Amino acid sequence: MSDITIAIDGFSSTGKSTVARQLAAALSYIYVDTGAMYRAVTLYALRSGFISGETVDDKALINHLKGLELEFRHNPDTGRSDMYLNGENVEKQIRTLEVSRMVSQVAILPEVREKLVALQRKMGKNKGLVMDGRDIGTVVFPDAELKIFMTASPDIRAARRYKELLDKGEKVQYEEVLENVRKRDHIDANRAVSPLKKAEDAVVVDNSDMGLSEQFERLHFLARQIIAEE
Ligand code: C5P
Repeated sequence: MSDITIAIDGFSSTGKSTVARQLAAALSYIYVDTGAMYRAVTLYALRSGFISGETVDDKALINHLKGLELEFRHNPDTGRSDMYLNGENVEKQIRTLEVSRMVSQVAILPEVREKLVALQRKMGKNKGLVMDGRDIGTVVFPDAELKIFMTASPDIRAARRYKELLDKGEKVQYEEVLENVRKRDHIDANRAVSPLKKAEDAVVVDNSDMGLSEQFERLHFLARQIIAEE
């Protein structure tokens, strides 16, 4: 029995991070939310004035990438890992609709992906981790022992994200959240570098009609089976 790597990919707002975090806790594994890393780079680009309207100044962002420090630090109050950008806790700021609107355009850039994928591989070099994102099973860890591809209908995903944003006090309309979910799906699945796609050996989990505990049980069962064989 030895530690494995668990890759969870899928469309936005499929609830990947919730179930991935639960799974990591149950296995005493590390959990890495790679979306937070793309969001932090996007926040940096917004704050630096490298984004105006819908346009990203690729050159300026790429020029500043090298000096950008991204790390996860444990938060003892929540028991979770928070995203730090150049030493500042940005966990809250990266979850706004403003960041969601631009993140897929930033995640298109090969230089951004190269930097973040290298960091992700470093975090996973000792196995024993659950990582979620869009390209974990296809690009970051193509040899992961367990790959999950999560999906759910766009309406259901938008309704979940809408509720989340309202709970956080953001003033948003359901329609704009749905539009953002659809747009990100389109950009993520059609970009040239590392598009979102199911790895051939991934297990598909459509959670449109599944509760949280059912999803967790399913993934936990699959993980334990593989771990017992390793
Ligand atoms: O998972 P989350 O919705 O927070 O991810 C935000 C965005 O970051 C995605 O819509 C996608 O554009 C990008 N992303 C990515 N590759 C990953 C994780 C996230 O391109 N591994």
